[in-house]
Amino acid sequence: MEYNLTDEQKDIVSRTRKIAIENIKPVRQKYDREEIFPWDIVKILGEAGLFGVYIPEEYGGRGLGVFELVLVTEELSKVDGGIALCLAATALGAYPILLGANDEQKKRFLSPLATGEKLAAFALTEHEAGSDATALRTTADKDGDDYILNGTKCLITNGGEADIYTVMVVTDKNKGPRGVSAFVVEKGTPGFEFGKKENKLGIRASATRELVFENCRVPKANLLSREGMGLILGLRTFDATRPGVAAQALGIAAGALDEAVAYATKRIQFGKTVASLQAIQYMLADMATEVEAARALLYATARTVDCTRSRTTKESAMAKLYASDVAMRVTTKAIQVFGGRGYMHDYPVEKMMRDAKITQIYEGTNQIQRNEIALALIKESTA
Ligand SMILES: Cc1cc2nc3c(=O)[nH]c(=O)nc-3n(C[C@H](O)[C@H](O)[C@H](O)COP(=O)(O)OP(=O)(O)OC[C@H]3O[C@@H](n4cnc5c(N)ncnc54)[C@H](O)[C@@H]3O)c2cc1C
Repeated sequence: MEYNLTDEQKDIVSRTRKIAIENIKPVRQKYDREEIFPWDIVKILGEAGLFGVYIPEEYGGRGLGVFELVLVTEELSKVDGGIALCLAATALGAYPILLGANDEQKKRFLSPLATGEKLAAFALTEHEAGSDATALRTTADKDGDDYILNGTKCLITNGGEADIYTVMVVTDKNKGPRGVSAFVVEKGTPGFEFGKKENKLGIRASATRELVFENCRVPKANLLSREGMGLILGLRTFDATRPGVAAQALGIAAGALDEAVAYATKRIQFGKTVASLQAIQYMLADMATEVEAARALLYATARTVDCTRSRTTKESAMAKLYASDVAMRVTTKAIQVFGGRGYMHDYPVEKMMRDAKITQIYEGTNQIQRNEIALALIKESTA
């Protein structure tokens, strides 16, 4: 398909692909098995200027947008959807700052993220508040010019590795969703510690940890936007970053398709390649069609996010929902094409299936995406 990429976009894709093939592919099995956080890859991506593609130039980035972030995430995820998260989850942590911070905060927090010198994380989820973000219990009580944070966040990507955390906490229990505010909390702040590191099914090179706040004093200068804007910033962030999850899913699916075609054209059974069997051809044809459909929807969505000031909740949810469901179907079929070898750790496709699963879960499960799409449809029909 022709997506009319600019020369700059083509250059971003080819530089990312080179790093993915030369630097990530040789280590992906090891990093997955041993749960190694990819700091060496962070350095290489940072030096290539890929962390800052969506960050404005005045804060050290390349001044592009969600579309370019999607291109980078897709290319990295073709090779490793877990390692890609060091960059994609940093974007998730950075977006509330991009959307809600003042100029001084943007200079302070975005500049080191644009170069990959520091990583970011986004902390919404708590043990009792998963899909229901209105059930948050972590609090921030005002004390002079500071706030005192207490509570625990869980399942936070880049947790423990990132330096910059955008954290959603309750500043007014009586105001419901309007009582939630967003703060930037830096690693090393007294009262801010890391809890359990999760042992996961997939994306094992990505760190997922608890964040524990115990009388953690954070200055008002770290409040994003104003009190009560936290959940709104979080939801606007998801409009921009769910295409990133879709890109991760698309990349994993496209990578699995490539592996399946390569294997099927070499594996001989009954005196001919399995690729010559119609049963295998039909699987490959379905996989390729779904991957391309996911890419078309995602690219159109990312371009829409970049060119409109309106909310894109429905479009972003559709791209994430569709691409992640495709990733599960395609990676499962890829294992089928490989036969028994596909089930083994020695071959890449079982990891791709494990990595694909998370894309149906985080940044809102696919049930929540469907809720949001349906809600938008109903709203549009009554507008
Ligand atoms: C590896 C990993 C990394 C993560 N990274 C982050 C991160 O960086 N930052 C962060 O804040 N969070 C993160 N999360 C948390 C993630 O966003 C949540 O797990 C997710 O939103 C679902 O919440 P839950 O796990 O509590 O599931 P629950 O909300 O308990 O849901 C359980 C089931 O019920 C369904 N369900 C719940 N409510 C509804 C409803 N209203 N309608 C239909 N179905 C519903 C769900 O779809 C699901 O199938 C991460 C999670 C994982 C596993």
